[in-house]
Amino acid sequence: MTKTAITILGSTGSIGRSTLAVLDLNPHLHVFALSAQRNIDLLFDQCLRYQPRYVVVTDAQAAEAMSLKLADADTDTQLLSGADALCTVASDDRVQIVMAAIVGAAGLESTLAAVRAGKRLLLANKEALVMTGELLMQAATESGAPIIPIDSEHNAIFQCLPLATAGLDAAQMRSVTKLVLTASGGPFLHRDSTDFEAITPAEACQHPKWSMGRKISVDSATLMNKGLEFIEACYLFGLQPQQIEVVVHPQSVIHSMVHFNDGSVLAQLGNPDMRIPISFGLGWPERLPSGAPPLDLVQVQKLEFVAPDTAKFPCLSLGMEAAHQKGTAPAVLNAANEEAVAAFLDGKIGFPQIPRLIAAVMAKIPCESTPSLAIIRDIDTHARNIANELITKEFCR
Ligand code: NAD
Ligand code: MG
Repeated sequence: MTKTAITILGSTGSIGRSTLAVLDLNPHLHVFALSAQRNIDLLFDQCLRYQPRYVVVTDAQAAEAMSLKLADADTDTQLLSGADALCTVASDDRVQIVMAAIVGAAGLESTLAAVRAGKRLLLANKEALVMTGELLMQAATESGAPIIPIDSEHNAIFQCLPLATAGLDAAQMRSVTKLVLTASGGPFLHRDSTDFEAITPAEACQHPKWSMGRKISVDSATLMNKGLEFIEACYLFGLQPQQIEVVVHPQSVIHSMVHFNDGSVLAQLGNPDMRIPISFGLGWPERLPSGAPPLDLVQVQKLEFVAPDTAKFPCLSLGMEAAHQKGTAPAVLNAANEEAVAAFLDGKIGFPQIPRLIAAVMAKIPCESTPSLAIIRDIDTHARNIANELITKEFCR
């Protein structure tokens, strides 16, 4: 097999580490560049092991420390620093695949750079798509960049579609009647909402089925993760919000489903292990070994499905509402959510304040229908400023 060069943006995170674990099993894939914000100890170990051509550290202080470490090490890896360098390694001519695994809006520019350069984009950084929606999909159409969703639900849907190309062609649009996004329900599925005030960050980060970074873990606990995924599904597959249903499936074995016009429903099943969607993206259109254990349905015993409780988890409704509004609404939702989650993790606001804060920010910013990238960036900053003002004045514990 010919060697394929990969840039992993966010290689020290949960998705980044799982990506490297899949690479370990597939020697024809090699690392071109790695990146992290601050965790240079792990990043340095990754550099020694994978010998990338470039390593990017975005935090200036951490970059200085990394430079000292690399100077004494037996490696030719070149250090680049700052956020712009992420775009450089995402669009370099020598790269074929870019794994976008930075968390939050911080991944937007590099994700866009990879798409504009026509790279195969393995999209884990859902926030980038939620923020820029049609603009990102349009950029992919123009450059021919295939977008392979790594979010397990969207990856499942992608696998169930006949041609498995991101964005449906007209014939597929006609035959798909509905997508069903499954949700584990998160750690508080069975906790009484009257007790939500007492929820600690540690409890919110303890997901029953998936081991993930802290931000997405809190999103899963509030069900905002499913709200963001609802928006993500509309843009990725070019469908209307009415065609998407969310179903709570606590076993997390069925990762999502596609309904077709003849009554057929296709689902993708597997253990809840991100190495499966990651290996699918890396190998596409072939399949590669992922290292995930095989699914044993006898051991799973039963698969349950219940409707989500949006009164208990209002973040899901907020996400669906933003999907209906489109335009700048998803970017406002995302910015407010990122600030709310950070404030919750810092102990500044309680768990029930997360949806209240997001709703308050959304109510203050009117939705613009066809935003440019510049407008989205402005509105992101504006929404964060309003969120932080509200955190200080009204929502602080
Ligand atoms: P994580 O917190 O474990 O890792 C985040 C990575 O991004 C780290 O490498 C970190 O150094 C880097 N990073 C953080 N802030 C940065 C900044 N300001 N500038 C540059 N780099 C920065 O997160 P994760 O769980 O791996 O999630 C990554 C993305 O994948 C998120 O968008 C998440 O929603 C999505 N995702 C994750 C999972 C999962 O199982 N972890 C599943 C589906 C989707
Ligand atoms: Mg998901």
